[in-house]
Amino acid sequence: MLIVVDPTRVARRLRVRGVVQGVGFRPFVYRFANSLGLVGWVRNDGGGVEIEIQGSEPVLDAFTQCLASEAPPLARVDVIEPEVIPPDHSRKDFAILPSAEGEVATAIGPDVGVCRACLSELFNPDDRRWRYPFINCTHCGPRYTITRSLPYDRARTSMAAFELCAGCAAEYGHPGDRRFHAEPNACPECGPRLSLHEPHGLTALARDPLAEAVRRLQLGEIVALKGLGGFHLACDASNAAAVARLRERKARPHQPLALMVANVASLAGRAKIGAAEAAVLESPERPIVLLAKLPGCDEAFPGIAPDLDEIGAMLPGTPLHYLLFHEAAGRPAGTAWLDDAQPLALVMTSANPHGEPLVQRNDEAFERLADIADVLLMHDRDIVVRCDDSVLRLRPDLPATPGEGDGKRAGVQFLRRARGFTPLAMPLDASGPAVLAFGAHFKATLCLARGAEAFLSQHIGGLDNPAACAALDEAAAHLQAILSVRPAAVAHDAHPDYYSTRAALALADALDVPSIAVHHHHAHIAAVCAEHRLDGPVLGFAADGVGLGTDGLPWGGELLYVDGAEFRRLGHLSPLALPGGDRAAREPWRVACAVLHALGQRDEAARRFAHQPAVEQVLAMLERGVRCPPTTSLGRWFDAAAGLLGLADTTSFEGQAAMRLETLARRIGQTFPLAGGYHIDTRADGPSVLNLYPLLHLLVGETDAARGASHFHATLIDGLAQWIGDAAHATGQRRVALSGGCLLNRELAGGLRHKLGARGLAVFEAQHVPPGDGGIALGQAWVARAELRRGLL
Ligand SMILES: [Zn+2]
Ligand SMILES: [Zn+2]
Ligand SMILES: [Zn+2]
Repeated sequence: MLIVVDPTRVARRLRVRGVVQGVGFRPFVYRFANSLGLVGWVRNDGGGVEIEIQGSEPVLDAFTQCLASEAPPLARVDVIEPEVIPPDHSRKDFAILPSAEGEVATAIGPDVGVCRACLSELFNPDDRRWRYPFINCTHCGPRYTITRSLPYDRARTSMAAFELCAGCAAEYGHPGDRRFHAEPNACPECGPRLSLHEPHGLTALARDPLAEAVRRLQLGEIVALKGLGGFHLACDASNAAAVARLRERKARPHQPLALMVANVASLAGRAKIGAAEAAVLESPERPIVLLAKLPGCDEAFPGIAPDLDEIGAMLPGTPLHYLLFHEAAGRPAGTAWLDDAQPLALVMTSANPHGEPLVQRNDEAFERLADIADVLLMHDRDIVVRCDDSVLRLRPDLPATPGEGDGKRAGVQFLRRARGFTPLAMPLDASGPAVLAFGAHFKATLCLARGAEAFLSQHIGGLDNPAACAALDEAAAHLQAILSVRPAAVAHDAHPDYYSTRAALALADALDVPSIAVHHHHAHIAAVCAEHRLDGPVLGFAADGVGLGTDGLPWGGELLYVDGAEFRRLGHLSPLALPGGDRAAREPWRVACAVLHALGQRDEAARRFAHQPAVEQVLAMLERGVRCPPTTSLGRWFDAAAGLLGLADTTSFEGQAAMRLETLARRIGQTFPLAGGYHIDTRADGPSVLNLYPLLHLLVGETDAARGASHFHATLIDGLAQWIGDAAHATGQRRVALSGGCLLNRELAGGLRHKLGARGLAVFEAQHVPPGDGGIALGQAWVARAELRRGLL
């Protein structure tokens, strides 16, 4: 063979790390290199993608420089490591080589919303995938929820059951095609199919299941929809009777429901959507975004988010979702209709009856959704991994989190991190041994720290039923499988009775590795340290519902000094009695009674709550001090205020009373803190106490609930800022981490951020990991690593 030596030819080897597999990165490199006339090759390996390119130096520079910025939408290039190598003059073209072997250090991508190119095929009557609900390509579609293990290829996904037809196989095999190595590639001929069923019947109902499902929705029926990571329950959001029926059947009387609309234009006049909100709603991750309601909202969508000034909305994420709107719009051809407001709006809520995990299998759906849904729209592809919708809100007062690079997510705070984001890695400040953390009890999630990254599992939910516990075990096994990691240690909550603790101990035993107990509120603060990559000590304020403290009591309003594996309790909120224990957490009137009793106003309590049959019994418990465990939880102080102001005697979901209080406070706007509303009791030999009884005392006579709510917030924030500020002064520590479920209250979080900032303190909040117990696992992994580093084990 004649080899022509080109003296200007130079060669480079590029190692690319990040999310670069299963996202169309190799075809992109192939096309990009060809367009620049470069020769060489690209391949996947255990570390990501490896590229060899040869050509003239300036072109090589241009290629390298544009690799990250021009990459396909789902790719995330974290690092490019170039290496100069001698040119191989025999190479004449650019090729995609088979994958190299090697330890799997790369991650599978999350599920992502359908891309524009697929949409134009989906609505093109001449396309072979016209109205095909499982259309996808390398730029979109399912990943995480269909994958059993890595490396990511079709055989290891639930698409393995569907053999590619000739047309799909040709697309799959052609390097220039948008579907080159699109593992879930499918078409009506070879891929999954829809079917429609009565709740108890296995037989398919309609020739066109989609059209029939839309007809049923328009009739006001409740349709169970099999999606990617689970089932949704859907109904017409503008039909008050349908929404009420769904609430009744799901036994969910007040909890806000999520809304799905065709596009941003469909929410005009209903919710406040600026450019930032629109960008997040339209992002490929398709999260539920909490939006400020406009005056017409409750009228248009009756009963979706009662008593709140926010509504959670999302745009269609899967082809099936789009097809529902397409059908309702009369099957328009082309994509122009996608920009026009559409009248159809759907309630789209997770199908997880009784707080159990999402329904996953078809047979399970028949069994568990029979009493809720009127009809079920299913398909024949298995859901491998359950994954809920992600929920977030914009907080313009928050900065972008380090590591997010482009800053497009500046000011975002997650309430639930799941579909679209799981299992994307969060960068950590240092590498360390692999640790699997099991989270707490409510809003359980797992976290696997590997190298300098942390992988958070999807939201699993409360571990108070066997199905949820099984889901936790399953998720733990799956996370280890898809990351090919054998943990060197496990971490868990310090509560010995949590299922997550027992599961962690069992795994530690099976693997013969250490288990590390991490205190609940230590973990809350540590999660913020991990997210912001804070090294060294910080002050932390954990504003929470409940977590077991070092003294065996339920904590939840804790001022901590956190330094890696160690923490000290600098202070706590004044303790509050919980008459009847856990029951008091669901019945704010009981906590309000406890406050009145403590203030010496027993008669007032008896009068105010005379309509509660148990009032005398509760007061007797308080008098005798039996079954009244004390807690320092801020969540319960919110309940006490709500109970006292008559806002919520009882609640049907966690945080309901506090959300009500926050909404009312916002209606009034800024107020001044009440004079004498708190004391800070300092002691030389123990934690300081922020005493909130004076504040509640001042609210006893309040007749305007909204004004009371506003005063409560202003005074609480003032007291907390003073208390945390004093601790900062005493310790010389200028960094404050805020965490815990109460920080989802924007009035509280924003107010504290403002006041602490004014004192010259640097404030850090949970942003990409929820501040509530959904973030605990990350904090546990972070503390466990610090503990391992100290070499105490
Ligand atoms: Zn696509
Ligand atoms: Zn096909
Ligand atoms: Zn907590």
